[in-house]
Amino acid sequence: MPDSNREKFERVLKSIEDHHRALTTSLPMIASENVPSPSVREALASDFGNRYAEGWVGERVYAGCKYLDEVESIAIELGKALFHGEFVDVRPISGVFANLATFSAFTNPGDVIFSCSIPTGGHISHAKEKLGGTAGLIRKLDVQNYPFDIDDFNIDLDETEKMVRELDAQGKKPKMFILGASVFLFPHPVKEIVDLAKTYGAKVVYDAAHVAGLIAGGIFQDPLNDGVDAMTMSTHKTLAGPQHGTIVSWEKYAEPLKKAVFPGLSSNHHLHAVAGVAIAFAEAMEFYKEYARAIVMNSKALAQALYERGIDALYEKRGFTESHIVLVDVTKYGNGFEIEKKLEAANIIVNRNLLPYDKKMGRDYRAPGGIRLGTQELTRLGMKKSEMVEIAELMKSVIVDGDDPKEVAQKVSELRAPFQKVQYCFSNQTDAYQHIKIR
Ligand SMILES: *Cc1c(COP(=O)(O)O)cnc(C)c1O
Repeated sequence: MPDSNREKFERVLKSIEDHHRALTTSLPMIASENVPSPSVREALASDFGNRYAEGWVGERVYAGCKYLDEVESIAIELGKALFHGEFVDVRPISGVFANLATFSAFTNPGDVIFSCSIPTGGHISHAKEKLGGTAGLIRKLDVQNYPFDIDDFNIDLDETEKMVRELDAQGKKPKMFILGASVFLFPHPVKEIVDLAKTYGAKVVYDAAHVAGLIAGGIFQDPLNDGVDAMTMSTHKTLAGPQHGTIVSWEKYAEPLKKAVFPGLSSNHHLHAVAGVAIAFAEAMEFYKEYARAIVMNSKALAQALYERGIDALYEKRGFTESHIVLVDVTKYGNGFEIEKKLEAANIIVNRNLLPYDKKMGRDYRAPGGIRLGTQELTRLGMKKSEMVEIAELMKSVIVDGDDPKEVAQKVSELRAPFQKVQYCFSNQTDAYQHIKIR
């Protein structure tokens, strides 16, 4: 370890540079990540990140907000156009904060809510208290999980209706239904859940953290048009902006949502990220019709190519996926943890993941049966179907053939070499992972 403060300082900067360099020769396939445009990175490095603008545009509690206000109004205006809502709040500092703001606005502690369980794709922010979930632990909600149809990888509507009726009969009327997930292969039944919620006077929140970019591109589904009360998102997954959050909703909920975000959940709201969100929204308006379609085409192509090579990409009968995500059962070759590590040694970066039937098989998150792949970042670098087939071949050589990861890493580096610029953005003068010194 470095000892002097100067050495530690140098070490941090060197690690950042090394991280950038590693990304130029690897295959980043974590489904919750992406590479933002150089313009978004410019916004993130700006002085906006050193300021406060508490309150709402035009009603700030400090002076000095002229340019910050201009940028935030543009973000709000673009957010309404992209996601078809009347009210947009770009201040939540991440997707979890956006979710918690809707929980605060729409529920009280003790209320019954529904969400997907973690093994069926649900996110920890939707989860029960005993798991440390934001809904259960922080908002103290009584979290119930949707019955799930594993064969279709979707919410089982008949069983859900039955369960809601039974709970209601015990005096536990549902107050909120959360839709959306972290393993999100197929659109959720939004209209059906909205109808069910109406019967009980409950709210519906759609968590678009993963699929916001696909929704912006006009594929997957259109939750606000289908009647949800609010849609939350991270702005850095398929929507390739900075790490931040956003809420889209209706004018009638503006006051409670605004109050929950500020002063409830934030003081400063990361104004450099807000500028990045405004830029990402503008890029989405212009380029995501094409980008979103390319992502889904690549996911399907990757899944098909893996399947043909004996690697069990799931849900073949449903076309594998309608999103950026491919879910793979690796139990023929080891567990998800082992496969994740082997692929990492070949510079193929994926994450181990629970499969919906893992619990039944006695497997848990430490050594689950699956891996999750996302094609959104590779697509943003300009990769197409033929590269997906090559990637499947490289994954096979690691997972099935047991080839030396070092040799595979060399091939990964060759495959990656021509794909160094961000596509689907206004300006890509700077390479996607170029380290920028402003010391
Ligand atoms: C990633 C994710 C989030 C939020 O993550 P943040 O890191 O807080 O932006 C919320 N919900 C789902 C379903 C997610 O996958």
